[in-house]
This record gives sequence, structure tokens and C-alpha cells, in this order.
Amino acid sequence: MSETSSLHIAVIGGGPGGYAAAFLAADLGMKVTLIDEELNPGGVCLYRGCIPSKALLHVAKLIDESRHAKNWGIEFGEPKIDVDRLRSFKEGVVNKLTGGLGQLSKQRKIEYLRGKASFENSNTLRVAKTGGGEDSISFDRIIIATGSRPAVIPSLKLDTPRMMDSTSALDLKDVPATLLVIGGGYIGLELGTVYAALGSKVSVVEMTAGLLPGADRDLVLPLQKRIEKSFESILLNTTVTGVKEDSNGIRVSLDGPEVKEREKVFEKVLVSVGRKPNSEIAGLEKTQVQIGERGFIQVNKQLQTNDPAVYAIGDVVGEPMLAHKASHEGRVAVEAIAGHKVAFEPNAIPAVVFTDPEIAWCGLTETQAKKENREIKVAKFPWAASGRAMTLDRTEGMTKLLIDPQTERVLGMGIVGAGAGELIAEGVLAVEMAAVARDVALSIHPHPTLSETVMESAEVFFGTSTHIYRPKR
Ligand SMILES: Cc1cc2nc3c(=O)[nH]c(=O)nc-3n(C[C@H](O)[C@H](O)[C@H](O)COP(=O)(O)OP(=O)(O)OC[C@H]3O[C@@H](n4cnc5c(N)ncnc54)[C@H](O)[C@@H]3O)c2cc1C
Repeated sequence: MSETSSLHIAVIGGGPGGYAAAFLAADLGMKVTLIDEELNPGGVCLYRGCIPSKALLHVAKLIDESRHAKNWGIEFGEPKIDVDRLRSFKEGVVNKLTGGLGQLSKQRKIEYLRGKASFENSNTLRVAKTGGGEDSISFDRIIIATGSRPAVIPSLKLDTPRMMDSTSALDLKDVPATLLVIGGGYIGLELGTVYAALGSKVSVVEMTAGLLPGADRDLVLPLQKRIEKSFESILLNTTVTGVKEDSNGIRVSLDGPEVKEREKVFEKVLVSVGRKPNSEIAGLEKTQVQIGERGFIQVNKQLQTNDPAVYAIGDVVGEPMLAHKASHEGRVAVEAIAGHKVAFEPNAIPAVVFTDPEIAWCGLTETQAKKENREIKVAKFPWAASGRAMTLDRTEGMTKLLIDPQTERVLGMGIVGAGAGELIAEGVLAVEMAAVARDVALSIHPHPTLSETVMESAEVFFGTSTHIYRPKR
């Protein structure tokens, strides 16, 4: 038995950060109490984030493919959508996964407390239990994994079911005839994709000059072209200045150079303008935890706060607010508590936008390189030259590698195209293993697959890609 096995760890929040931390702590022999208000662990990701959205996006993709199939000589006709069954498919997925986490938690002998936690001091929590009553628990170390919630703009707040955030949009009460999505970030675009496939006329307004601010423009372009066809409209450089409910829906006031109609009525409106960290935990002021910019809890590379007994992980400590970042931080925090020599210092945290086409990137981006004035070589392989992309009738994609011109090391990868979210894992491995372009070019990739575009983009770097002709200079 290691020394750490005598430690009692408390974890507030059962999301992918909190449960990953709790499970590892139990695996390392620690006594673990995990606190969350839901019936089972899962957090935002499983109950109202990654998982339900991907279940619905899978169905959206099927609908789109079936519509597209007439180009290949097959007609299915218009789909009949049974919203209740679709909702129960999605809920079934969520229940199976969260139930499974509940089982895994029991098998590891984790004490799972259902309720809301507040701090008494750095080593004691009070838990207002979901069924009523209170518990007090003492522990040696605590990990805060309270996650985040949708950001709210006061001027866009209306107390009506016609105004949705990501959580109510995922509830899928019905399919509105018209839907306005406020915010062109990944959550808005993913949910817009779902509703558009189900039959809503979807419009998107984005305050900045482009969709998915922060992502490389060449990755966004093929997506924008496709959703320009499937969505009703995309208004960039546009702000929503007010919302009012009337008998037909929500009357929205719009402002910006591209706006033709200053007022428009939508049956429903989805506000997806970012997320806020849940750092306003009652009693936190009784500890030495410090909160920094934008409400994120401040931590060091071991995820330890200013209070030596308190660690924090996941959305509540900062961007990127992604489930896999939260889980990884959770594991690092537990190892740090166990006394292992660890630090959270990844070179590549992948980001995936599960639209159609998907967009994914990891490591350095061109946008970031430009901002930092870093010299890089970008090797792009267009999917028009990929046999596999052609068999899928999805040649609009592109794979690119960002390469250090001196060392030829792969610093980043960006992909737009069907299945980009699965393909990006190879980029993560290349960046983290410090692969050079030659390593990627010399690794035999299976044919015919989209993964060959990764190998061929490395070949593009050397000017010797098999499927791209480059005239001799
Ligand atoms: C629509 C949508 C789609 C998304 N899709 C993806 C995706 O595809 N891929 C991806 O990586 N990320 C995605 N995300 C983001 C992802 O869900 C978050 O990054 C992830 O859930 C963060 O994990 P976490 O452990 O930090 O916290 P959360 O998952 O936010 O969990 C925190 C938990 O703590 C609980 N809690 C808070 N305060 C207390 C308290 N005082 N006492 C007890 N419990 C408390 C909360 O109720 C919650 O259950 C998506 C998010 C949304 C909204």
C-alpha cells in the first residue's frame, strides 16, 4: 500500500473532470467522496453537452446523407421525424452512459453524495443533500470540478420557452419552423446543424467577422459554404440589440452592415454566446483560493490553487473548455496529490467542431503562429486529390500540417472534412511525440482512407506528394 492510500479526497462536480479524478484517486487507493446534484456522475458533458449533442448530430448526418443520396441515384423521400422517439434515443444514450459511470463509481467504492457542496473551510464541506438534509464531510485534499454554465446576456433574457440555451435546445421539445441562433461558435453551429436537418429554417448571427472565431479561416470556409446552403442565413458582423416576445414568436432587433431587415420574428431563439465558470461556490472565501480573470479559479501546473489543500480542474479553471482537457487535468491533479512528479503542460489539446463537415485542429494554429510572429511552413493536402474522399462524395475537405522549417518538426495539424474529429488524434500523437514531417510521410497509411491525407500533407511539405503534381522549377 502506498502512503497516499490513507488520504481522503473530496471532489465537487461529477463531470468528465471530476469523475476522471475520482476514479483515478480510488484506483491509487485513496478514500474518495464525489459530490454532484445528478443521480449519477456525468456532468454537463454527458447530461447536457457532448454526448446528447453528438447523438442528435449523428441523426442529423443521416438525414443529410439520405437527402444527398439522390445524387447517387437513390431517393428515400422526405424523412418523417418522430421527435418523441428521437428524444428517447438521445435520453437512452445519456442514461446508459451515466448509469455506467454510477456502476464504475460503486465498483471503485467511491462514496457518491447527491447534493450541493459549500465550503466550511479548506478541509470541510457542507453538502445540502438532494433528498433533503445536510452532511458535513472532512477530507485531506479537495478537487473543485464544478464546470461551467451557459453565459447569459441580460438584454437577451426573456422568461419564455421560446428562448433557449444549449440545455433547453438539447431537450428537443419540438422542431420550430424558424430558429435564430445567436452566436456562431461551435455549440451554436452544432445545434443549428441538428435543427436544420430536422426541418427548422435556421439563421445564425455572429458579432465578429467570421464563424468560429479563433479557428483558422481556411478550415472554416468549406463549412461556411455548406451551411450557407442548409441554413436560411448567416449574418456576420451583426449584433442582436433586443428581443421581445409577441404572439408569433420572438421579435429580434438586429444591427450591423449586412442587416437588411432590422426586425425579424423567429419561432424560437437559441442563445449560445459562450460559457461562464461555476466558481461562485458558497464558502469559497473561507479558503485561500483565488479567482482570476473572467471568473476562472487560478491554479498552477499541478492544478493546485493558492490553498495547498485545494485543487481545481476543468472548465472552472480556464480555456479550452473541453471535456478531454478536464479529464486530463483531473488525472494530473490526482497524481500531484499522490506525490508523483507531474505537470499539466500539453503541446496539443485537440478541438473538434462536430458540424458537417467537421473541423478539427491541435497544437499550433496558423492564426496563433501569425499572432506570435512565428515562422512556419504550412503543407496542405486538398481532399479533391483523395480517392477515399471521392468515394464519399466529400472532396471539399483539406488536411494541413504546420511544420517548423528548421527542425521539420510537426507543430500542429488542422483538418476540415468528414470525420476530421477522428483523424485529428494522429496529429495529437505526432505533435506530442515530436514527430518530424519525414516520420509522418514514411508511416504507411491504409488505402483507401482519409488518413492518407495526413501522410500526403507531409509529402506535400517535401514537394513529393503522390497525388499532387508539382511542375519542376
Ligand atoms: C452543448 C454542448 C456541447 C459540448 N460538446 C463538447 C464536445 O463535443 N467535446 C468536448 O470536449 N466538450 C464539449 N462540451 C464542453 C464540455 O461539456 C465541458 O468542457 C465539460 O463538461 C467540462 O467538464 P468539467 O468536469 O469541468 O465540468 P462539468 O461537466 O461542467 O461538470 C460540473 C458538475 O459539477 C456540478 N456542480 C457545480 N457546482 C456544484 C456544487 N456546488 N456542488 C455539487 N455539484 C456541483 C454541476 O452540476 C456539474 O454536474 C460541450 C458543452 C456543451 C454545453
